Amino acid sequence: MLSQLVHSLNTHFHLADLIAAKNHSDDFNYTRAGYIARRVRVLTFSFALLGILWIPVDLATLSGDYAFSITIARVVLAGALLVIGLSSFKLRSLNQNRVLLGLLLLALGGFYFYAQWVLGEAGRQGFAMGYSFLPFVYIAALTIFPLSLREGFVAGVLVLVWLVLAHLMRGGLMTTPALLDFWLISLLMMIALWAQASYLNLLLRLYRQATTDPLTGLFNRAMLMSNMELAISEAQPDEHFAILMFDLDYFKRINDTYGHMTGDEVLREFAKLVKAHLRPTDVVGRYGGEEFVALLRDVDEQQAQKMAERLRQACELHPIKTPGGETLNFTTSIGVTLSGPGNSIQSLLEKVDDLLYDAKHNGRNRVTFVSMAA
Ligand code: GH3
Ligand code: MG
Ligand code: MG
Repeated sequence: MLSQLVHSLNTHFHLADLIAAKNHSDDFNYTRAGYIARRVRVLTFSFALLGILWIPVDLATLSGDYAFSITIARVVLAGALLVIGLSSFKLRSLNQNRVLLGLLLLALGGFYFYAQWVLGEAGRQGFAMGYSFLPFVYIAALTIFPLSLREGFVAGVLVLVWLVLAHLMRGGLMTTPALLDFWLISLLMMIALWAQASYLNLLLRLYRQATTDPLTGLFNRAMLMSNMELAISEAQPDEHFAILMFDLDYFKRINDTYGHMTGDEVLREFAKLVKAHLRPTDVVGRYGGEEFVALLRDVDEQQAQKMAERLRQACELHPIKTPGGETLNFTTSIGVTLSGPGNSIQSLLEKVDDLLYDAKHNGRNRVTFVSMAA
């Protein structure tokens, strides 16, 4: 019963992926960091602006001493929020943006606590009562972030801590107002966790669909190109990388003889083989039907040729079993080049395309290499 439930949940979302981000790919983390940064920016700027716009309301509704202290706090908060919001333009990694979100909650929570401390009993009457709603507003604001359950929980606790501190200051945690607040904030936190994880789930699914090839699980062509561009832009001036273009040999014949299902199986096996041979920093994707491209980072001439030759042999020595029980061997031709400084991805791809054509022309199941390095 329980295993059925887990199975049915897993078909709709990968639970582990929603609980924590540790299995998410680097490029997805980078994309999600951008989402978090933009939302941190919207929240910091709007809270800063609203906080300042509220000052006349405080001046009109609070008594003089309170109004002065809280106005100062509002200005300090707006300054802190602006610094956080502006930093989000520069910080790109997921961890940096998590820290920014934490700082945002620290600043907002600190303001709430200060207001409770300054207002004391007066904070429970009239307009000033609005200040005691702030932790609930903060939890509601957190629903706009695509967060894992663990991140959402930590964020919720960062708000909860201020509420606990405020009640400790006021007269304890076991009072009726405190218990009611904890009950309400727990409910809101659960709704927020749900919203955050649903948002993350949606983002993960759309991201996978938009970036991976469903048959092989490798990057699709668009993602392959953008990741190669990124790898090239990040390369050191003296770093060489290799571009490999693969085209499976006589693939049409495999389809015609064994059927498209078996053809698909060959493509999947080929993808697994290539993936198993490359390093995590290398980039590989499906370029077209039975054509694949890989970028190997930081290699020299010998290493590039050796890897291509190893992959060629791996295919040759890796037969697959057809549904009819036959053994099917498949081979690949490979065009390889080594980059020189200033080579564009387009010129490198044109080069390996020509080399691949030569490999086909010279009998297939072979590697053709020409360096473009100076
Ligand atoms: P060559 O050795 O010259 O490369 O010959 P080839 O038969 O591999 O080349 P060709 O370009 O004539 O045929 C490629 C075939 O790949 C044609 C197409 O039906 C098949 N193909 C493309 N995508 C898929 C796919 O996703 N699944 C399957 N099963 N076949 C595919
Ligand atoms: Mg082809
Ligand atoms: Mg082919």
